[in-house]
Amino acid sequence: MHCFYHPEKPAVGLCRFCQRGLCIECAAVVEDVLSCKARHEDQVRGQERLASRSLLQAARFAAVYWRNAIFYGLAGTVFIAFGLWQLKWLGLQAFVFIMLGGFLLYAAIANYLEGRRYR
Ligand SMILES: [Zn+2]
Ligand SMILES: [Zn+2]
Repeated sequence: MHCFYHPEKPAVGLCRFCQRGLCIECAAVVEDVLSCKARHEDQVRGQERLASRSLLQAARFAAVYWRNAIFYGLAGTVFIAFGLWQLKWLGLQAFVFIMLGGFLLYAAIANYLEGRRYR
């Protein structure tokens, strides 16, 4: 591959914005990636900032899902434990708690799986 601006020179990398080959002279390092020097530096800077911002947002989403998963998981465990404990005295009514606990555990797993997608 050769530099887009200097066809006789070998390229050292691609501009993150226009994907053109760049030689050592034309390459500018912006936010840890390459861009056309004095041509696409601003565009690449904007692109990379946007990308890192959405990464940050994904991490925040994941944190919310993890928190929900932990909350539902704990609540579900408590409900199931309570239901099992009350089974002797309440009989069938205790199954309502166990079912609720099961539903909460299901919600916990769903949140956990959803949170993993943002990793
Ligand atoms: Zn470029
Ligand atoms: Zn060049």
